[in-house]
Amino acid sequence: MSLWTRLGEFFYPCVCLSCERLVGHSFPLCAKCSSSLKPVARPYCSRCGLPLAGTAAREVLCGECLRHPPAFDRARAAFIYNQFDHTSALARAIARFKYTRKLALGSGLAELLRHGCPLDPFYYDWITPVPLTLERLRWRGFNQALALAHSLGDRKQVAANLLERTAGNTPQAGLGRRERLTNVRGAFRVRESCRAQVSGAKILLVDDVMTTGATVNECSVALKRGGAQTVDVLVLARVILS
Ligand SMILES: [Zn+2]
Ligand SMILES: [Zn+2]
Repeated sequence: MSLWTRLGEFFYPCVCLSCERLVGHSFPLCAKCSSSLKPVARPYCSRCGLPLAGTAAREVLCGECLRHPPAFDRARAAFIYNQFDHTSALARAIARFKYTRKLALGSGLAELLRHGCPLDPFYYDWITPVPLTLERLRWRGFNQALALAHSLGDRKQVAANLLERTAGNTPQAGLGRRERLTNVRGAFRVRESCRAQVSGAKILLVDDVMTTGATVNECSVALKRGGAQTVDVLVLARVILS
């Protein structure tokens, strides 16, 4: 560790992203909160990344992907937590980031995403975030998915505005599975000025959390309709519904 890093930590001590305890290192979570992180382990659905029970073969699809193949090629999450696990340090850290509107917390979460990233970001032509509704963007002041996208790959790969949101203004949180699907159906389109960028491109779509996958799927529909060659999804956390 360099002298400057040590001095930096002395004057600006790091606090855990989740419990706000002081940590004497630059990793964004304290030891206790880090130990609650659950990386996604095999076996999982090769399309949507949903963890599956048993010791399935490498290429296996979950029931949902078999019944309704998603528009994205594959979705992967760095970590998982259960919908009702209120002790999850990651869930708490993400909620603090989104609802306290502190952009500074984003660099810690971005570090977690980089740390647990199961995909190679440099493979893609563009890394783009799921766009927020204008109302949310005004309230929060930043798009948390864009903050995460910036932490991956090369700066030149980040395309902040490939997609625009034309509907789906009710936040997905708090909605049931069916309502989530209808709320975002047809809600995204490729920006007119970005058509050439999307056509034939390999795109990595980034979001903080994936629950039913309805939002990332609708974004992928728009990108594929715009001629994208590949659309992969990367999220920091996959929420397991139970
Ligand atoms: Zn902690
Ligand atoms: Zn699946």
